[in-house]
Amino acid sequence: MAGVRLIKVTKRYGRTEIIKDFSLEIRDKELFVLVGPSGAGKSTILRLIAGLEHPDAGRIVIDDEDVTGKAPKDRRVAMVFQSYALYPHMSVYDNMAFGLRMRGYSRREIDLGVRETAEILKLTPLLARLPGEISGGQQQRVAVGRAIVQKPRVFLLDEPLSNLDAKLRAQTRGELLEIQRFLKTTMIYVTHDQVEAMTMGDRLAVLTDGALQQMARPLEMYRYPANRFVAGFIGSPSMNFLDATVHQRENGIWLECGKILLKIPPRERLGGVFRQDQKVVLGVRPEDLHDRVFQPSLAAEGNTAVGLVRNIEPVGPDTYLTLDAGGVRLVARVEPDAPYQENQPVEFAVNMERVHLFAKETGERIPLEL
Ligand code: ADP
Repeated sequence: MAGVRLIKVTKRYGRTEIIKDFSLEIRDKELFVLVGPSGAGKSTILRLIAGLEHPDAGRIVIDDEDVTGKAPKDRRVAMVFQSYALYPHMSVYDNMAFGLRMRGYSRREIDLGVRETAEILKLTPLLARLPGEISGGQQQRVAVGRAIVQKPRVFLLDEPLSNLDAKLRAQTRGELLEIQRFLKTTMIYVTHDQVEAMTMGDRLAVLTDGALQQMARPLEMYRYPANRFVAGFIGSPSMNFLDATVHQRENGIWLECGKILLKIPPRERLGGVFRQDQKVVLGVRPEDLHDRVFQPSLAAEGNTAVGLVRNIEPVGPDTYLTLDAGGVRLVARVEPDAPYQENQPVEFAVNMERVHLFAKETGERIPLEL
């Protein structure tokens, strides 16, 4: 068992609170992703778990052992950094052996560990080379190997793929996942890239300004973002946000978004949720906007509007259309083959079963899935 718990952790640099009363529970054998924009405090959390920083308040527990006051070497965790920080004058073998030598393992134990790890990572043919003589992807694997060989309870990875080009990054992402599944070791992975977070994490935590925004499984987070920040952060292209006013009428609840009028699908328990004239923010993902020409069956009362095409971005499997609907800008993900032209009017339908609503003031989700 090597779960990790942060209990009400606070970290300050000078007078600035970088991490604010932060609690998190990571399960044994889980690949847990911490994601958020640059400066959110992700690295600081990893460094706190590693023991490279110490919290001003709160506790850190690994495997039911309180490690808050312990030195990094006594925590049995291993960290992989963005800059692989390999020793340039040492062979791959010696880079991997270094940590074990420092800890006084015997030559035989070290040799066994390094060779076993090199096999797992397909590094065996490269053991005699210097870091300068292998590719960036291979260097990254050596950095991972240096962590694995120590048989830690927890791996901490800080943006380990950000120095790789896009194609290699996707490939290495898959390899890392396989390694984690094979070793069955708890892994905490930091990234600012929401695609990486969604594809790798068993669960993920979205962080901004040193505070937890939401923790969930990837698809749960995509479908039920807890607030407007998470909704805008997860998903590409980003969710569309429209300021809206609530109108309760006899035939249901309507949202007035500029010139667009949309009706919320009737649900049994929605009655008490809204106030007349309440200001809310409507969130619509690009894939939930459909061209009526291609999806005629989707059109229903209170879900259509017309927009002028302002921008056309073909990306291959889809095309992203920017529409201007009476001053409201919306990005729609549409059929790639349709011959759209700039300034052409498009009648579109919003899949109202999938829209999101957020309180205007707080940005908190207003649950529609009752
Ligand atoms: P992230 O990993 O999400 O990009 P960091 O944890 O690196 O964020 O940083 C969070 C905030 O803490 C940033 O505003 C950063 O400037 C600040 N910070 C990080 N380390 C230090 C330090 N040693 N001294 C002062 N401020 C720091």
